[in-house]
Amino acid sequence: MSYVDEVFDLVVAKNPAQPEFHQAVKEVLESLRVVIEANEEQYRRDALLERLVTPERQLLFRVPWVDDKGQVQVNNGFRVQFNSAIGPYKGGLRLHPSVNLGIIKFLGFEQIFKNSLTGLPIGGGKGGSDFDPKGKSDREVMAFCQSFINELHKYIGADTDVPAGDIGTGAREIGYMYGQYKRLTGLYEGVLTGKGLTFGGSLARTEATGYGLLYLTEEMLKCNGRDIKGQTVVVSGAGNVAIYAIQKAWQLGAKPVTCSDSTGWIYDPEGIDVALLKEVKEVKRARLTEYAAARPGAQYHECAGGSNVWTVKCDVALPCATQNELHLEDAKNLVANGCFAVAEGANMPTTMDATEYLQKNGVLFCPGKASNAGGVATSALEMSQNSERLSWTFEEVDSKLQKIMVNIFHSLDAAAKKYGMEGNYVAGANIAGFLKVAEAMTAQGI
Ligand code: GLU
Repeated sequence: MSYVDEVFDLVVAKNPAQPEFHQAVKEVLESLRVVIEANEEQYRRDALLERLVTPERQLLFRVPWVDDKGQVQVNNGFRVQFNSAIGPYKGGLRLHPSVNLGIIKFLGFEQIFKNSLTGLPIGGGKGGSDFDPKGKSDREVMAFCQSFINELHKYIGADTDVPAGDIGTGAREIGYMYGQYKRLTGLYEGVLTGKGLTFGGSLARTEATGYGLLYLTEEMLKCNGRDIKGQTVVVSGAGNVAIYAIQKAWQLGAKPVTCSDSTGWIYDPEGIDVALLKEVKEVKRARLTEYAAARPGAQYHECAGGSNVWTVKCDVALPCATQNELHLEDAKNLVANGCFAVAEGANMPTTMDATEYLQKNGVLFCPGKASNAGGVATSALEMSQNSERLSWTFEEVDSKLQKIMVNIFHSLDAAAKKYGMEGNYVAGANIAGFLKVAEAMTAQGI
């Protein structure tokens, strides 16, 4: 049996009932086959793959907090410190009822390669909780965040582990967590990124994941003889990634026509009104029905019965909602409707069979660990600014982000070509991300 297959079987056996983690590992290991085979003796001896798929540390903790009725609630807290070979653990905190250890492990595993691709010195980690901020009062969210940090503060630090936002964790949550970290430790340090601009946050961090997605997409299209300008873009999601992807798509001359949340989606033939979308989602924290009500001409569809944005005719599709949101049927619809490029804004939004279908049908496909790396890359820039006690201008951060995204595309393009898989950006991303981490792990010994 090949080393890759052995390690994959081991992952399934040792981590039962964690399908997302298995999926993320499988996708990475499959595309590493050529590289692994070329170095098999050394990697086997060093148990390099076994070490790579095993988190360095996993923290599971109780998060008790008091709701507005005086009732104590208990949530599960997680932080998986996956790999610190190239830098301190770095990755977001997801707050969503679907969160469990397997999901955090899949996200932490992806983060290793994503962070490596940025070219910046950050290792891979992820955390979160099954707490649902939706429908909670500000005080309840604060109570949860404080309790979460009461435990987590012992294990994080500006040079050890630097959490940030993800689904459900935005500026409000980071603010409450930062305040509690400071209260408990007395340290004013860059322990979290995505902070408010008045206390060490970086300009352009809010926009970074969405903007970065578009910078990379623009480069991928350019290198394949296409122009982002004039393209119709279908976007899923209506959170931080989707909003700023839509904004940058407009700025680059494309036309974003959809967005979605967990209950419904919008098709706006005139193109999505970003100011209205921000008002509905960022200010009011409301449903997309409010967008439709305020925008004549926009169509609102319920998500029920498999109805989704992937049925809308487009040139470019950007899944920016969550994992496994774009299935084989959706990929078929996209291809049938003439879509020629897909770049992932979310983490692992495309299922493996859908990815394969898109690639086989000549669709340019960029995996999230490359195309959504702009968020974490800008978090690393926030860490740099915190370390030097300076803050850079929006333009400075944005231009660094743009260069990082262009470089990421070229490094995965080059890795794919080098290993005889030209145009396979999934393989390119996994190989380029892996090689740097593998080299660091090897150099640092056991
Ligand atoms: N949650 C984001 C991601 O998936 C950002 C993480 C960070 O900024 O550390 O990459």
